[in-house]
Amino acid sequence: MDILYHKNKVLSKTSKYIIITIGDYMKKFHELDEGFICENCHQKVEPLHYSSRDHCPYCLYSKHVDINPGDRLNQCQGLLKPIGLEKYKDTYKIIYKCNTCKQEHKNIIAKDDDMNEIINISNIK
Ligand SMILES: [Zn+2]
Ligand SMILES: [Zn+2]
Repeated sequence: MDILYHKNKVLSKTSKYIIITIGDYMKKFHELDEGFICENCHQKVEPLHYSSRDHCPYCLYSKHVDINPGDRLNQCQGLLKPIGLEKYKDTYKIIYKCNTCKQEHKNIIAKDDDMNEIINISNIK
């Protein structure tokens, strides 16, 4: 019955809830593009800003954390070693093999990836 007598209070509670929900969503979205210390070359990697940072731009190594791109749901956490390159639409995908579970994984190249490393892995095959 309180609700009927305090309409304004209930309304403000509702709008507060909506703000928190949106805030959590933004936080979650933001966390997908995060900086990290590369486990292979130990360089500090900054967030990518235009997309999810999923591999090191210096040595191209990645970490086995996604099942689908950006979901971070994989429990493997193994180091992904770049083993090749394949054409994908108007860009390229780096082909990885996981050091831990031996699965193959692919990531789209980032605009600040080291070109020499990209050329190196394109010559492996
Ligand atoms: Zn690295
Ligand atoms: Zn793995």
